[in-house]
Amino acid sequence: MYGWTGRFLRINLNKRKAVAEKFEASFCRSFLGGRGFAVKILWDELKLGVDPLSSDNKLVFAAGPLTGFALPSSGKLVVAAKSPLTGGYGDGNVGSHVAVQMRKAGYDAVIVEGIAEAPTVLLVEDESVEFLDGKDVWGLNSFEAEKNLRGLYGPASGILLIGQGGENLVKFANVVCQEGRAGGRPGMGAVMGSKNLKAVVIVGSSDLSPAYPKEMQELGSDGYREVMTKPSFAFWKRQGTMMTVEWSQEHSVLPTCNYSEGVFDKAEAIGGFAMEKIKTSNRGCPMCNMTCGNVVRGCDKKESELDYENVVMLGSNIGLGDLRQVAALNRAADEFGLDTISLGNVLGFAMEASEKGLIKEKVSWGAFKSTKALIGDIALRRGLGDMLAEGVQSVAEKLGHDSNRWAMHVKGLEVSAYDCHTTPGMALAYSTSSIGAHHKDAWVISWEVKTGREGYGVEKVNKVIDLQRLRAGVFECLTVCRLPWIEVGFELDWYLRFLHAATGLELNWNNLYAVADRVFNLTRAFWVRESGENWTSEMDVPPARWFEEPITKGRFKGAKLDRGKYREMLQAYYMRRGWDERGIPRKSTLKVLRLDDVAKQLQKHVKLLD
Ligand code: SF4
Repeated sequence: MYGWTGRFLRINLNKRKAVAEKFEASFCRSFLGGRGFAVKILWDELKLGVDPLSSDNKLVFAAGPLTGFALPSSGKLVVAAKSPLTGGYGDGNVGSHVAVQMRKAGYDAVIVEGIAEAPTVLLVEDESVEFLDGKDVWGLNSFEAEKNLRGLYGPASGILLIGQGGENLVKFANVVCQEGRAGGRPGMGAVMGSKNLKAVVIVGSSDLSPAYPKEMQELGSDGYREVMTKPSFAFWKRQGTMMTVEWSQEHSVLPTCNYSEGVFDKAEAIGGFAMEKIKTSNRGCPMCNMTCGNVVRGCDKKESELDYENVVMLGSNIGLGDLRQVAALNRAADEFGLDTISLGNVLGFAMEASEKGLIKEKVSWGAFKSTKALIGDIALRRGLGDMLAEGVQSVAEKLGHDSNRWAMHVKGLEVSAYDCHTTPGMALAYSTSSIGAHHKDAWVISWEVKTGREGYGVEKVNKVIDLQRLRAGVFECLTVCRLPWIEVGFELDWYLRFLHAATGLELNWNNLYAVADRVFNLTRAFWVRESGENWTSEMDVPPARWFEEPITKGRFKGAKLDRGKYREMLQAYYMRRGWDERGIPRKSTLKVLRLDDVAKQLQKHVKLLD
């Protein structure tokens, strides 16, 4: 077998035991890697209804067959578990030296089971696995802890870790590395914290062996060169995703004050050009030559790595229009290991709740100092922060009144940084994403704005599914970054050539889409199995605010989503997916995808239609 190492490393923290396990080539062809491996492992191995923060949940770090080769933007992995935030399938991808080192150590995935008795650092050096005392780094923020560990294990070591947010089981704590890389929005950091696992350190010493080494070397050099010759490359290096702030403002989709508006009076002050004036350098993931992390100094004088999502969620969505202050909040979130999207969403909700008198604490729009203090309270679970640490769905349930109508989440995952009052296609993409309201599975909004945002027709449904196949399927399983393709136009067929050189297999797009559909249906099956007969199509409906409260500013003043048309669009989506009216895969669909065993399992919990 080429491309894949063909081995998982299974770690049991209770027993302090590590076992390398081999897997079959057929498993690779069916699930490819990354998200595909993770969801298959979690489906097969997790008991129904397992508490996500218990010893029985498993944390999976999984790479793809291109990870670690000298190919554009191939330094990522997926981290996955049952989510403590949503109760469903949860994952995220993160650019990290761990991705590269894990493969060089001879593993495609690491599966972590159980709970360590005391704070632990897991050290993997090729075949050697050690369970080290983690008490010296427990309680440190992620920057301090990483510096400490890097000093011990060297600059080339792969280190993934949690901050105090993960230690304190904040439901939207993520895993972090390299001073600003982060992933695992639906509480993957909390799962790691629940296992008493502060950090995973991996050092690998073998070279990856592709099926065709010469072809691989040439393709790698040509691919990197090709990325750099794209016309938009230079501007990308200047701004990265920050250019999207101005775009979102222009098109009235910039989340503002808890998604009540799509334009922000101070957007220019937090936009890409404002950022350029204070930018000091670029940072990014390993193996990437279009590094997109914009490093600036915040008002706290510390470095902070800015991109669109963190700036918007900690800027316009909380009414803050000072970029250096936004940078300081972002740095605090990274130090604590909190997901910046969910954090900005929860903070916006708290500010609205305070304005409406639903909480006694004063949390004001755009108030930097008190917001920074509140971020600390969330990470350390103090006072109001303790309630907010549970995520916006839970807070709304506690506060009652009508707050669930403006708690901006789908299936418990906070909506990311696009307002959808005027974009039904993006609302559908959020609502049907594999992990809850995240944009990564289908960023349809730019196409939608170009081609007609008002429509709810079948072409929009088809576009969402096409993007989900590519982004949620192919890219998440290969665990290569999708931004070279999306942002600078690096052509998709490169990835077929890369796969051929790595694995020796002649794969075409139909093969890859079959994997994508299999993985997408399996993630859906995971959610449905957990919900049983309680599963309804309501799970795929976006927040009520977008249907009920029109925006009051900008060129789309008065616009909101149409609930009836959205429901029709959702049913068209289900039909095209081969799902029934509840959004549950039909038996026939699972059979075509060679998921007969999944159908068999699933129908123990819910009635499946033919
Ligand atoms: S483009 Fe950005 S997110 Fe993608 S691999 Fe490069 S640095 Fe990482």
